[in-house]
Amino acid sequence: MALCKKLFVVPSHPRPHGGRRNPPTPPADAAVTAVAAEAWPCLRPQSMARRRGRERGYLLLAGTEEPRCPAPGSQKQPLTPLYSGTTHALEALRSACSVCSSSCQNSLALPSGSWGEKQKVDVNHSMLIMASSPTVLIRLVASAYSIAQKAGMIIRNVMAGGDLGIVEKTSSIDLQTKADRLAQMSICSSLARKFPKLTIIGEEDLPVEEVDQDLIEDGQWEEILKKPCPTQYSSIKEEDLVVWVDPVDGTKEYTEGLLDNVTVLIGIAYEGKAIAGVINQPYYNYQEGKDAVLGRTIWGVLGLGAFGFQLNEVPDGKHIITTTRSHSNKLVNDCISAMNPDEVLRVGGAGNKIIQLIEGKASAYVFASPGCKKWDTCAPEVILHAVGGKLTDIHGNALQYHKEVKHMNSAGVLATLRNYDYYAGCVPETVKNALVP
Ligand code: AMP
Ligand code: MG
Ligand code: MG
Repeated sequence: MALCKKLFVVPSHPRPHGGRRNPPTPPADAAVTAVAAEAWPCLRPQSMARRRGRERGYLLLAGTEEPRCPAPGSQKQPLTPLYSGTTHALEALRSACSVCSSSCQNSLALPSGSWGEKQKVDVNHSMLIMASSPTVLIRLVASAYSIAQKAGMIIRNVMAGGDLGIVEKTSSIDLQTKADRLAQMSICSSLARKFPKLTIIGEEDLPVEEVDQDLIEDGQWEEILKKPCPTQYSSIKEEDLVVWVDPVDGTKEYTEGLLDNVTVLIGIAYEGKAIAGVINQPYYNYQEGKDAVLGRTIWGVLGLGAFGFQLNEVPDGKHIITTTRSHSNKLVNDCISAMNPDEVLRVGGAGNKIIQLIEGKASAYVFASPGCKKWDTCAPEVILHAVGGKLTDIHGNALQYHKEVKHMNSAGVLATLRNYDYYAGCVPETVKNALVP
């Protein structure tokens, strides 16, 4: 786990009623700024942002042009400007440090007066905004979390019922089950009821019909509602967002009983970029015996971090490649061979393979073939990027997620948590030439 040491942004003197006019000057500004500047030399208050921060009664500190974390081993993550809020600021600063997480030992003492008491704050990787009420993006992610959990339950119930209702879509390796249908209905209808202006694109082609009330999930995950929204996303409107839904990723494996390969994927895109995502793994823990609590939900927002798992890395120098088990072909295998892997894992699901990357079970996800679609990569890409990884097509191009984009990732997928350049550099020209974006 990398350690970081750098900036922080602190709340100061919040206005009691959240009003905007004539905010008082926070008395601790100068002292806090001085400590922050010492901790991170390129940190300085920015006039515009500072003024906007003051309107809300916060002290705002922001970096100069695209500052990067200067700590050794920190992956030099870019730092984006943020506000920090009042009541949840300390928590936000702690939890946002997705690379350092709770083990970050580089804490800084703040002068008393900013929070009343002298406090230690884990420095974080990005800047955040804590608005007085949650932003559209944060509300959407909080809903998507609860909705993905419900979809996970639907998937378990269909399996427990014994009738999977399997239908072949384009071929015998491209399947749809009753779980895919019900979960998609549940996810898309639940999202559309709460956020009617969203663009929602689901994998399954389903007839338009009235959805049973039992399938609707209205909840919002409280923990997420308390999180600050990265400033660059704070004014996003519902109609600006595109949601990519894979109700069951790893359907083939689901039908074969490889249950921990299965995930529910809800990815959120803005201006063509994947910015937030939720992954539910309905059968997480299923091999732990009868009493184990089944299922987990992982979520993330760029600039805020990714949560719901323990970040781990494959030991340095070891090349463990994870790839498809049911959609392999010569291109996929040629590409993997060129990377001289120590080990190749063949498992189902795009979501599952990204989880292997962030939990240190694999070092690269390599799929040099068309087949994977935007709903397969949107949510997993965010989780990976939020912890400093990289997902592209096999040529190194970023994937696009605006609503008119072609669904197929025609030029395959290459994803790593670390050491992306090694794997990208190994892709043979013959493989690249065969995969047109
Ligand atoms: P896999 O790694 O084989 O589980 O594939 C990851 C995702 O891409 C799954 O949702 C698959 O359904 C999809 N996928 C990959 N290749 C194909 C293909 N040839 N046909 C249909 N779906 C595919
Ligand atoms: Mg899928
Ligand atoms: Mg699917």
